[in-house]
Amino acid sequence: MKKAVITGERQSGVVDAPDPVARENWVVLKVHASPMCTEYKGFMAGRPSVSLGHEAAGEVVEVAQPGRVAVGDRVVAMPQYPCGTCALCVSGEYIHCQESVNFSEFTGEGEGRATMAQMMLKPDWILPPIPDDISYDHASMACCGLGPTFGAQERMDVHPGEILMITGLGPVGLGGVVNGSDRNARVIAVDTNEWRRKKALDLGAEVAFSPDQALEGIRDLTSGLGVDAAVDCSGAPAAHRLGIDGVRRRGRVAFVGECSEDTVIRISPDMIRKGITLHGSWHYNLSLFPRLMGAVRRNPDKLETLISHRFDMANVQDAFELQTSGECAKVLLRPWGLDA
Ligand SMILES: [Zn+2]
Ligand SMILES: [Zn+2]
Repeated sequence: MKKAVITGERQSGVVDAPDPVARENWVVLKVHASPMCTEYKGFMAGRPSVSLGHEAAGEVVEVAQPGRVAVGDRVVAMPQYPCGTCALCVSGEYIHCQESVNFSEFTGEGEGRATMAQMMLKPDWILPPIPDDISYDHASMACCGLGPTFGAQERMDVHPGEILMITGLGPVGLGGVVNGSDRNARVIAVDTNEWRRKKALDLGAEVAFSPDQALEGIRDLTSGLGVDAAVDCSGAPAAHRLGIDGVRRRGRVAFVGECSEDTVIRISPDMIRKGITLHGSWHYNLSLFPRLMGAVRRNPDKLETLISHRFDMANVQDAFELQTSGECAKVLLRPWGLDA
């Protein structure tokens, strides 16, 4: 098979690799859609990698034993290699599994971890089926395109008519705009990047602010009360602050964007007197997958807007260069070519 690799600073390409091999309940998928995520950060920093990606939709092509999927099934590959037996995994919260399987040990240094590849390997129980009327491209948005903010909005129980602020309009935040609109919330989108603010409006946001205008804009829109809920997808401490300051009393904030810096939270004024609820939210419970497919089915045009670009994996260099420009939303690789 072929897979994408990063070989140096702003250097990438495609190499040949052995096909992965099915083992126990781990099955081989032929990858049809491979959404790109944060791998471009390694491309920019010059961190070589031969295992890229964690998002995919594809077709089961080899199983080692009878199980939850069969050859020919169309499935989404959920992230990570969770154990499948702990209380978190059994309850669908596999993303927080503490006993994840060591991929290299289990496969004997085998292939199949990368999703930016023609074939991959996954345990069968985290391969939920794609309904017949949904394409691989659209189903693959159940990974980081729509997934993290779907989980966050479920956790916060965002309901119709509520005002929801999304900060950080990369592909995850833009997916959050789609999810918020699908729930009939009124979405306020915030980002420094004008291209992405415009994209948020195309995806159903009611208004889009740059961060320096946001707090005043929120106050104007809500008669000074604040928004009902906020989801941060930027990971920036200033955006965390905007969420905490921008929600109403008894409001909710979810943190979705990964962050390496510390954010100051003041217990009395922020938490006790405002009475707000903060959520850390990574992905979504596996049992919610059918409902997320419902959101996918209801929004085909918006998903075509969210998927701003598609590339043949052979042209992965062009795809990475586009991502570094910031003028894209979700970028999809097709490992077998654009016409496959
Ligand atoms: Zn587990
Ligand atoms: Zn991702």
